[in-house]
Amino acid sequence: MNEPVVNADPAVIAGLDHYLTLPAKQQPTWPDAAEVAAVRAELSVLPPLVFAGEVDILRARLAEAASGKAFLLQGGDCAETFADATADRIRNRVKTLLQMAVVLTYGASMPVIKMGRMAGQFAKPRSSDSETRGDVTLPAYRGDIVNGYDFTAQARTPDPRRMLKAYNTSASTLNLIRAFTQGGFADLRSVHEWNRGFADNPANARYQSLAQEIDRAIKFMAACGADFNELRTTEFYVSHEGLLMDYERPLTRIDSRTGNPYLTSGHFIWIGERTRQMDHAHVDYLSRVRNPIGVKLGPTTQVEDVVELIERLDPNREPGRLTFITRMGASKIREELPKLVEAVRDSDANPLWITDPMHGNGITTKNGYKSRRFDDVMDEVRGFFEVHKAAGTYPGGVHVELTGDDVAECLGGSDLIDEAALEERYESLCDPRLNHMQSLELAFLVAEQLAKR
Ligand code: PEP
Ligand code: MN
Repeated sequence: MNEPVVNADPAVIAGLDHYLTLPAKQQPTWPDAAEVAAVRAELSVLPPLVFAGEVDILRARLAEAASGKAFLLQGGDCAETFADATADRIRNRVKTLLQMAVVLTYGASMPVIKMGRMAGQFAKPRSSDSETRGDVTLPAYRGDIVNGYDFTAQARTPDPRRMLKAYNTSASTLNLIRAFTQGGFADLRSVHEWNRGFADNPANARYQSLAQEIDRAIKFMAACGADFNELRTTEFYVSHEGLLMDYERPLTRIDSRTGNPYLTSGHFIWIGERTRQMDHAHVDYLSRVRNPIGVKLGPTTQVEDVVELIERLDPNREPGRLTFITRMGASKIREELPKLVEAVRDSDANPLWITDPMHGNGITTKNGYKSRRFDDVMDEVRGFFEVHKAAGTYPGGVHVELTGDDVAECLGGSDLIDEAALEERYESLCDPRLNHMQSLELAFLVAEQLAKR
């Protein structure tokens, strides 16, 4: 008698490996397939970096933001590097995000969901597979998880063992973030402390006076006998672009409570503008995991694309499941975004809309740096709020590339960073980031927009 074939493997049931039959853009050409297989096997038995329960809480938080009752602040490096995963730099990034969140919470009187582009943001999509300098052509730098930045054949050759280093660096980064945000450092009664160590400047001064107001409010509440347990710790989530399939697949785990697959490399994973093709690996893969998913939408996005992405990634119209991260450019957002938000508003879907005011505003300076004008960044944020106001939809968050360090990568801000400054303090291996002061200035602008929403 023929027994029916029963396959009880939940990964098989979930179709996790279907992506292998689809084209996948932006993947490295590893020189040695056996070594990739060995690293994947090793990754697949390492402990998860995040837990399914946390991911579920985040989905509920994002659902609040999608319905206008909370706001998402997502920020961090364009590309994290192994060398920069030091205690000082991680602390500066966390402090910057905590400060921005305070400015937003106070200005908007609503909960702010804090999320780093941190503890996993190591893989980068590139416009070309290779880079030529003089008469030498080498593979393009694809992020520390794939190869090294130095322009030598040795550094640029993709090395799968880097995926293990990325996992370990993510684990130690996340451990420090958890210590900072759960161990008392993020206590709202320390709002002043977070400013310590940053240079004096107008944005800091403005922050200090806000911190004083918060202090007074807290003292008043304490005098009234309020309980401050809620202020002691804060939720902090981590996110990255889900790009490198040989890393994401082995870190996908089946949750023992529910039997559902979760990506455990980060809480929130987004699909980039360059890998969101409908019948390709990334959209298919992320459609099968339970994490909240983001998709970047550039200025050429059509209504049909958005409708189909919703169908693929959020067929059940689950609150908090899907976030659209629009990155149109300051000069295009007022023209290109309205049709998308109106079409979605008039459908049965309720994704979270957030703005990435960085990636549509790239320029190359006369002295050869990849930069962005701070004014363009601010203008795209304003445009984002205008469009949502006109459509009657919720502007639910911001997604920015920033660092807590005093770099000079984006032009302008009240510090008036000019092209000459880039030559001295440009550190990013990839896109230009807002520095600490520009990040605070942006937070004040967003808070103003939120207050009058
Ligand atoms: C990024 O977020 O660094 C990035 C590459 O963005 P996008 O996919 O929007 O170009
Ligand atoms: Mn970037």
